[in-house]
Amino acid sequence: MASNNFPSQSHLLVIIIFITTLLTPITTNNTSPQPWNILSNDNFAGKLTSASSSVEAAAIDFGHVTKILPSAVLNPSSVQDIIDLIKLSFDSQSSFPIAARGHGHSFRGQAAAKDGVVVNMRSMVNEDRGIKVSRTGLYADVDTAWLWIEVLNKTLELGLTPVSWTDYLYLTIGGTLSNGGISGQTSRYGPQISNVLELDVITVIFPRNFIGKGEIATCSNDTNSDLFYAALGGLGQFGIITRARIKLELAPKRAKWLRFLYTDFSEFTRDQERLISETDGLHFLEGSVMLDHGPPDNWRSTYYPPSDHLRIVSMIKRYRVIYCLEVAKYYDETSQHSVNEVRGMIKCLPLYPKKMYFMR
Ligand SMILES: Cc1cc2nc3c(=O)[nH]c(=O)nc-3n(C[C@H](O)[C@H](O)[C@H](O)COP(=O)(O)OP(=O)(O)OC[C@H]3O[C@@H](n4cnc5c(N)ncnc54)[C@H](O)[C@@H]3O)c2cc1C
Repeated sequence: MASNNFPSQSHLLVIIIFITTLLTPITTNNTSPQPWNILSNDNFAGKLTSASSSVEAAAIDFGHVTKILPSAVLNPSSVQDIIDLIKLSFDSQSSFPIAARGHGHSFRGQAAAKDGVVVNMRSMVNEDRGIKVSRTGLYADVDTAWLWIEVLNKTLELGLTPVSWTDYLYLTIGGTLSNGGISGQTSRYGPQISNVLELDVITVIFPRNFIGKGEIATCSNDTNSDLFYAALGGLGQFGIITRARIKLELAPKRAKWLRFLYTDFSEFTRDQERLISETDGLHFLEGSVMLDHGPPDNWRSTYYPPSDHLRIVSMIKRYRVIYCLEVAKYYDETSQHSVNEVRGMIKCLPLYPKKMYFMR
């Protein structure tokens, strides 16, 4: 007999259809795609290309697992270009799939548009505009085509940094906000999508009525909140995010950076959980696994002095798997004492306590 808590077959069908919808590139209509017709449209002169070099580049991402060819690539120079493209598809009898592509660091074709148009967001980057920092408001208004490293460099000029990061900063704002954006700050501040105050989104599929006409809407927790929460983590299925207001904080002056190696998984996770639950604990906490696979490059060897590589390799060979806990505590002249407390918080094998000066 089926349990009441277990989804019925019809529920499962709805869930499967919903997930399939999410994983399908945006299509503004159900008719067959014919994006090549728009190549002759004057609005996109010089911006829309079907050159094989552009189309081939847009067909592949960082994962190199899939190759999904679009018919054309749009290199927009303004938000209006993207609006025009979506409207054209929406109004047309022969609509086509459209996908935003940030830095193409997806693993399996998430930014692809089969037989459609890939929007190369990076062509919108303009050195003279696109990042406005409010020091008093502690936020930055950012065009989503920018990379996190570029935003960081800009905010640091005013002594500020984003609150939540990814480990790797060569990803676009739009790309990570369409996913989640996690790093060692997540346990303290939440992922990047929890540290956004406002978005501008060109609607493609509006969650309530499933109509996307290519209209631009500003949304936040208080205004158009359905669209706001659908676009964040929405893999570009609900709209193309063109601007994000990102929370900032004062840049730390220094950081104590420590790495601890564990051979016992329970001890490792117990320490992680305890440190995360400390109310005024660490500013960064991340765990990783080091396996007996290949060269030291596989376990972020740059984190350790070359003179210690042999020692670590022999540990990995002996235990087959080692767990690395990486933590950081920010401090300045007035809070130096708090750094010494960090080591007391962790009862394990401190292999690499190392003071690192972070920024200024
Ligand atoms: C080397 C490497 C390191 C990574 N490190 C981390 C990490 O530390 N933390 C982490 O969380 N993730 C990490 N990732 C995963 C990464 O965050 C995602 O793959 C992210 O989507 C890549 O950003 P991108 O700019 O390359 O986006 P793309 O791959 O170009 O696009 C990703 C998705 O977002 C959509 N999209 C892109 N721009 C927009 C936009 N403006 N509006 C709406 N939708 C849009 C695309 O259609 C696609 O669905 C890493 C990936 C790699 C390859």
